[in-house]
Amino acid sequence: MSDKIRVRYAPSPTGYLHIGNARTALFNYLFARHEGGDFIIRIEDTDKKRNVADGEKSQIDNLKWLGLDWDESPENPGQYGPYRQSERYDIYQKYIDQLIEQGDAYYAFDTEEELEAAREAQKAAGIMPHYEGTWRDRSDEDIQAARDEGRPETVRFRIPEGETYTFDDMVKGEVSIHSEDIGGDFIIWKKDKSPTYNFAVVVDDHSMEITHVLRGDDHLSNTPKQIMIYQALGWEPPVFGHMSLITSAETGKKLSKRDGSIIQFIEQYRDLGYLPEAIFNFIALLGWSPKGEEEIFSKEEFIEIFDPNRLSKSPAAFDNKKLEWINNRYMKAADEETVARLAIPHLQAAGRVSDDPNEEELAWTKKLVSLYKDEMSYAKQIVDLSDMFFHDSLEVDERGKEILSADTAYEVVNDFNNKLDAIEPFDEEHIMAAIKQVQKDTGIKGKNLYMPLRVATSGKEHGPSIGLTIEVMGKEKTKHHLEEALAKMGKAE
Ligand code: GLU
Repeated sequence: MSDKIRVRYAPSPTGYLHIGNARTALFNYLFARHEGGDFIIRIEDTDKKRNVADGEKSQIDNLKWLGLDWDESPENPGQYGPYRQSERYDIYQKYIDQLIEQGDAYYAFDTEEELEAAREAQKAAGIMPHYEGTWRDRSDEDIQAARDEGRPETVRFRIPEGETYTFDDMVKGEVSIHSEDIGGDFIIWKKDKSPTYNFAVVVDDHSMEITHVLRGDDHLSNTPKQIMIYQALGWEPPVFGHMSLITSAETGKKLSKRDGSIIQFIEQYRDLGYLPEAIFNFIALLGWSPKGEEEIFSKEEFIEIFDPNRLSKSPAAFDNKKLEWINNRYMKAADEETVARLAIPHLQAAGRVSDDPNEEELAWTKKLVSLYKDEMSYAKQIVDLSDMFFHDSLEVDERGKEILSADTAYEVVNDFNNKLDAIEPFDEEHIMAAIKQVQKDTGIKGKNLYMPLRVATSGKEHGPSIGLTIEVMGKEKTKHHLEEALAKMGKAE
């Protein structure tokens, strides 16, 4: 086995990149980079029925988007290739032959109907479903007869009897499983002449000199099967680590792909305009925690501080509030150009900005985005946040109506309206100067000054900085809104 740490992320290209898989990739990546080891991507594509077109591409593209890089993969092969299981069948065949030769595996010719009938009978008898070993010790003649009959041919691994498999899991500590609890001799070579996961993964991890296998909890029951194959082939198993499952913070239940309250695919975060560094940060805290209270770290800092001993044994709660909080922190820290680049396509898709904006429109749009940058967690939110800029008339919410009905509100709004024409140039600085002048002329200040002006221009009590909001709104629209507000207040009197 390699002296250097070598870890791998081994996706099956059966769909989009799920948050759970992204986490597996990310922790393997952090571990490798922290240790100065290698991080490898291997594509486990032997299940032809489940593979989807572009599944591999989607995995790779989204891992790159998250900021991961790797030392070996199908697109940058190293000396351990090929890196797609579908291209490694010759290697598997060799070890299948060896296991049969040694008596650690055998041909089995059960039909689907026979297996199903056995399962039904076991269920009826209340015993754990298992393979009964029908083909365990059959003669060469029986095997030949089954072949001649054209029965489905598989290869099963012969589970040693009365053994206990114990391993020191990086996350869970000592784990022990008895050979009797495994469900009987399992298939390693399928009737369609392809390897099963448990077999191929052992051959690949061994021949690629993988030193540590960090993967999801759902694979825990596979590990003893894999250890048996390592032993039968005379190989030393890698160190295993099984990361706790991800649950919903809201329901406490295991994350289900159907749970619509949690965004589960990396593509979706990308489409909504999340910042990849923020998603990286969020995922790195799903089942792992640094020392201390700080939770915001760059990729480089995570690499520096990553310690696999701090992977949590208890489930990792996916908390939407934390997701939004972390992402908002990154939005605030991001530069305006970056946020504009993410947000403008959403405004275009909503029909609010031209597909090919001229310089003036582009400058205006950037200013608009900058108004809301500090409020956003992801770029698509700009569409709702900036809604008021795209309505002709002023829409005042309930709280706004209360503010406008205050005694001094009319005077403030009216005075500002009278000063509006003279504000030149119409920019934040001059708008703020005019508001100060309203304060001097009316003697009304503080909340009683700013709140009615904010409501009379935007319809809402809260919002981004008032001077800049009015600047972005423009003189004409502001005038229109102020007059509408005055008319409403007039009626209220
Ligand atoms: N192809 C397996 C999966 O996607 C990999 C499991 C492993 O890491 O061993 O779940």
